[in-house]
Amino acid sequence: MTRAERMELLRPQVLACQACGLRPSAHQVVFGEGQPEARVAFVGEGPGAQEDAAGRPFVGPAGQLLDKMLEAMNFRRERDVYILNVVKCRPPGNRAPETSEVNQCLPHLARQLEILDPVIVVLLGSTAVRALIHAEARITRVRGDWVVRDGRWWMPTYHPAALLRNPELKRPVWSDLKRVLDKYRELVDPSHDSPHYPIS
Ligand code: SF4
Repeated sequence: MTRAERMELLRPQVLACQACGLRPSAHQVVFGEGQPEARVAFVGEGPGAQEDAAGRPFVGPAGQLLDKMLEAMNFRRERDVYILNVVKCRPPGNRAPETSEVNQCLPHLARQLEILDPVIVVLLGSTAVRALIHAEARITRVRGDWVVRDGRWWMPTYHPAALLRNPELKRPVWSDLKRVLDKYRELVDPSHDSPHYPIS
């Protein structure tokens, strides 16, 4: 069975989930989207209002910025990456998900990553870093440094929403994403070029 077929088998199970208290106030469960055969996954925190309405991850202002970041890497979400969130239902008022909610939802993300089996996972923001790397991790300390675990390369960086609040974070994030491109060229596709970060 292909990765796409396995993800489609998983989808209805996730969409039917009511395991935590986030589901009643959310319009729908946001499963994630992208190219299941992609070797890179991006993991954010959870749906916001626009994602909750659309049923798709990263479609609001932070999502538009993520698309620009992907474009600078010469990636497109439907062709080169898969985009996921730690929690699949919108926390009310766009608050951060609580630890108990993250823990309830984490098996979905773990199963998705098991199926997708990405070589590189970009962790967008502290919720993703704490859920997948270390519960006490501080994004300001760990960003930009590779974590190698479970046969994958994990790159913590800031969430695009943080860049919208503080544009000074764009420079460190681009530095982190260039490291991702270096690793992608090393492990996945040596010919993957980008006009914003050409192959040297
Ligand atoms: S956030 Fe996750 S665990 Fe909670 S109801 Fe939605 S899918 Fe289920």
